Amino acid sequence: MRRPVLVLALLAGVTAPAAAKTGKKTTDKKAAKKSDKRAARESTKVSASHHFKADNMPRGWQWPPSRTMESVEKTCEQKLDALGVTWQAATREGHVTDAIVVPDMTLGGVQFLGTYTKDRPQMMDCELALAWTSFAPQLHELGVTEVHFGSIYRWTKVRAFGKTKDVLSRHALGLAMDVAYFVDGAGRQAWVGRDYKSGDELLLNVEKAVNDSGLFRLLLTPKNDPISHKDHFHFEANPDFTPLPAEDPLPDDPDRVDI
Ligand SMILES: [Zn+2]
Repeated sequence: MRRPVLVLALLAGVTAPAAAKTGKKTTDKKAAKKSDKRAARESTKVSASHHFKADNMPRGWQWPPSRTMESVEKTCEQKLDALGVTWQAATREGHVTDAIVVPDMTLGGVQFLGTYTKDRPQMMDCELALAWTSFAPQLHELGVTEVHFGSIYRWTKVRAFGKTKDVLSRHALGLAMDVAYFVDGAGRQAWVGRDYKSGDELLLNVEKAVNDSGLFRLLLTPKNDPISHKDHFHFEANPDFTPLPAEDPLPDDPDRVDI
């Protein structure tokens, strides 16, 4: 079973959580510049490597963002509006295409709380907010009222099976979130690190619902990565940035025969 292992390795993120920065527009300009510089430097480091796997990125993803990506994100913002999410544009960090913050960190009526960042809103890509908002009805059905996460945006490479891969993590795209535990309506906490191994029903139900929903990429858990994901679930939005045919027309071919 070598192939699934390889695939999982490409999907994974990093265990150690880092305090993510808020992407508020009020961010000090100097700090933003510094962060941009760091991102650019790191970006060169990552992309210069011959091991860099561009295909670990979302379908059609490129940097800087293509017109299709911008248009997909515009649609994402409209969907968030239609779903009643209150959001604000934020300062982009790393390779986040459409940086936003949701000031009250409530998506679809579910409260998101940062373990290290308390109730400060965290910058993320619109697509991650949309995936969670779309999935919220199922969280309600399972009884989840709070999602406690370690981190969302981090400029980092993939870490899986205890090893760091030379591949940019989707945390660097603002598309991934590491969840440490869920809280249900009765106030019970279901911790991935403590309760998953004993078959906690809520955690297993969330895992199944996520994978059945198609709203996220394959969820990384202690089951499919017992080393680097032993204490959290790694969620990833799964946007499709493939250009529409209209954006990139095929050149005229005089020999082409339409059938
Ligand atoms: Zn992760």
